[in-house]
Amino acid sequence: MDMKNMSFATRAIKAGEGPDPTTGALNTPIYETSTFAYHSTKEFEQGIDDAMSWVPGACLYSRTTNPTTQALERKVAALEGAEDAYIASCGMAAVNLALLSNLNAGDHVIASNDIFCCTRSSLEDILPSKGIEVDIVDVTDIKNIQEKLKDNTKVIYLEVLSNPRLELADLAGIAELAHSRGIFFIVDNTFLSPYLLRPLEFGADMVVHSGTKYLVGHGDALCGLISGTKEKVDRVRYYSDNLGTHISPFDAWLALRGARTMPLRVAKQCENALAIAKYLEAKPEVGYVYYPGLESHRQHDVAVKMLKNGFGGMVSFHLEGGYEKMAKFVDSVKLMPIATSLGDVVTLIHPKHHEGDLIRLSVGCEDVNDLIADLELGFAAIQGM
Ligand SMILES: *Cc1c(COP(=O)(O)O)cnc(C)c1O
Repeated sequence: MDMKNMSFATRAIKAGEGPDPTTGALNTPIYETSTFAYHSTKEFEQGIDDAMSWVPGACLYSRTTNPTTQALERKVAALEGAEDAYIASCGMAAVNLALLSNLNAGDHVIASNDIFCCTRSSLEDILPSKGIEVDIVDVTDIKNIQEKLKDNTKVIYLEVLSNPRLELADLAGIAELAHSRGIFFIVDNTFLSPYLLRPLEFGADMVVHSGTKYLVGHGDALCGLISGTKEKVDRVRYYSDNLGTHISPFDAWLALRGARTMPLRVAKQCENALAIAKYLEAKPEVGYVYYPGLESHRQHDVAVKMLKNGFGGMVSFHLEGGYEKMAKFVDSVKLMPIATSLGDVVTLIHPKHHEGDLIRLSVGCEDVNDLIADLELGFAAIQGM
């Protein structure tokens, strides 16, 4: 079924899936099989050729392709508005596949500074150790990128909503700059989800996500998404097949189930996060709140232009008074587990000592009054400190 003209919510539910051709099972089955059998030598030879040239639907071995995973690939491509998508075992697999399949020794990459910790390790340690040059800059000002451009710059890589300061990059402006120099532009859009922003529409060449977060949404599977042209995604498939970073069919199935409710969940998370950001901003104990939906956010005007469906579920804030006070606050809330990760239906609280005693909330889908009552416990505990 051609779903191109259907709305995002319909695509989230229907795209990539349909009754199973052999049994009519309406829900996509979990094909837990490592290998696939053929009727004859000739068919087998053809199967190998098809799988190795990434013919859609070809199945040979589940490190290479698998029907459950392929359904998720089709759904994600439909959600991103991409020609094709590949699903890796986790977000870091997606990040590294996107980088490695577009960079060789001697190339140069410019990347953003406010970035996921493991991506930073890859950029600052792993890639340079293999002969790839890296410059890390504040991408919220395009001039910083311009200054670092070199003849061998092959990739610009950034997180569109940064972690943990929640700053936005001007995707359209950076895409124009990249393309004027033949540079490949890769965007990690984990913090927003495809429901809130589709970087390919702004000119990015490839988009990656930790699907573990908003796509899966229930904290029960790891998953990495890569979308772009079929040519580029096939290159990623080749790397993934050889590096061994394909997702398991069961995790892909959990991601398929999660994806169907992503628009509902993310809309609720945006609504809750905005209410919590406003509540926090009004508290005298709070030094500053980072949330792109607040008028006080230094890029609120950019956010209003780029984010039409909501400002995301992530809120970071700082309490005046240092580490002990932050720890007391975090230890006193009861509803929000202290945990890393984000995008789940459950609200998570993440103390970030190394980021200037910042507290990061991944706001979930609970009733916002209960969440605010819980934060009140934190504020009550730090009175007089
Ligand atoms: C979590 C995260 C990743 C890594 O994803 P995993 O699924 O944990 O491997 C990459 N980028 C961002 C922005 C993330 O938040």
